[in-house]
Amino acid sequence: MHAEAGDLLRGVASAAAGWADVSAGSLSALACDPARSRGRLFAEPPAPTRNAYQRDRDRIVHSTAFRRLVYKTQVFLNHEGDLFRTRLTHSLEVAQLGRSIARALGLNEDLVEAVALAHDLGHTPFGHAGQDALNECMAGQGGFEHNLQSLRVVDRLEERYPAFDGLNLTFETREGVLKHCSRAHAEHLELTEPGGVGRRFIDRTQPSLEAQLCNLADAIAYNAHDIDDGVRSGLISMGQLMEVGLFAHYHQQALDDHPALEHKPRRLLYETIRRMLSDQVYDVIDTTRQAVARAGVRTLEDVRQAGPLVAFGADMKARSSALKKFLFASLYRHPQVMHTTGQAQQVVRELFAAYVDTPAEMSADFAAATDLQRTVADYIAGMTDRFALREHERLTGTRLL
Ligand code: MG
Repeated sequence: MHAEAGDLLRGVASAAAGWADVSAGSLSALACDPARSRGRLFAEPPAPTRNAYQRDRDRIVHSTAFRRLVYKTQVFLNHEGDLFRTRLTHSLEVAQLGRSIARALGLNEDLVEAVALAHDLGHTPFGHAGQDALNECMAGQGGFEHNLQSLRVVDRLEERYPAFDGLNLTFETREGVLKHCSRAHAEHLELTEPGGVGRRFIDRTQPSLEAQLCNLADAIAYNAHDIDDGVRSGLISMGQLMEVGLFAHYHQQALDDHPALEHKPRRLLYETIRRMLSDQVYDVIDTTRQAVARAGVRTLEDVRQAGPLVAFGADMKARSSALKKFLFASLYRHPQVMHTTGQAQQVVRELFAAYVDTPAEMSADFAAATDLQRTVADYIAGMTDRFALREHERLTGTRLL
């Protein structure tokens, strides 16, 4: 059976016209089909009750790296408060948003879920501060990049199965996990996996629609939850947020519909964010339907050769970018966050120096490895915030953060 590409455009009216009832139904011709997966690096018999992408998702959820996400920084350090997002809750929110959109578009929800849950497995402790410090430490050895590290975690670093390193995930999940990659890194990947997940960064082609979707769901998720966490932390105020068009629009809409929210600021914040999230989701669905129709794509191969298809419309894109810029300037670069950033980078730098100097300070598996710098980077990248701080104190005698 060969469905028309128009199936992708099924079921969703514009946000203004209201949300039509959409059910998963049969997958679009443009969706990834687990029965037609490009497969795993090591051949395995299929699972009796789960398709290939469901199995990928289950392996990710059971991995050690996944459990560590709960103690890794998203924006606020793990110990700064119990209610802030961590890498784990962020990943769950990306999976939820991604699945909602995938269902409406007729894309493969299981694949979206697997990619979303795995997309941040390669993050260091202390978020981007940790990554930047580790990247500097590794400058002479090819650097450190968290997307590439996420792939390294699922391909090599997890140790659970008798016959292979890593989780041996399908090509499609691995493709989605490797969101970005420099040409130099892609050429390096080609050496061990010719025509593999690095290829598209050389050919400049697109990944599956499911992978494109996870990328956008990531941004929708953090733009929304960083507002919530930013206000909760006291680092950004509602007054500042009112200067952001996207926020101000839904804030006013929520107040018009529920004037009593004036006296319930937290509920007003939630309602504003809820409306903002919903409209971004509808916008992506509508815009993607239109882009697919315009591009005339009929098969997954057509999708790979076309330009990006999962996207915001021009207006939402501009409003979302303005919000992102605001968060960057007002939250991620807030003096209090920057102070933490400086200390976090010092922890990572000093840990790196200590382990390179005395590899035996690492756990036995790592201490015995041959490529010392890369091994130290893998070891540090795998740490939770609190383990990194404990190790730093043990090795330097200084307690930071
Ligand atoms: Mg993310």
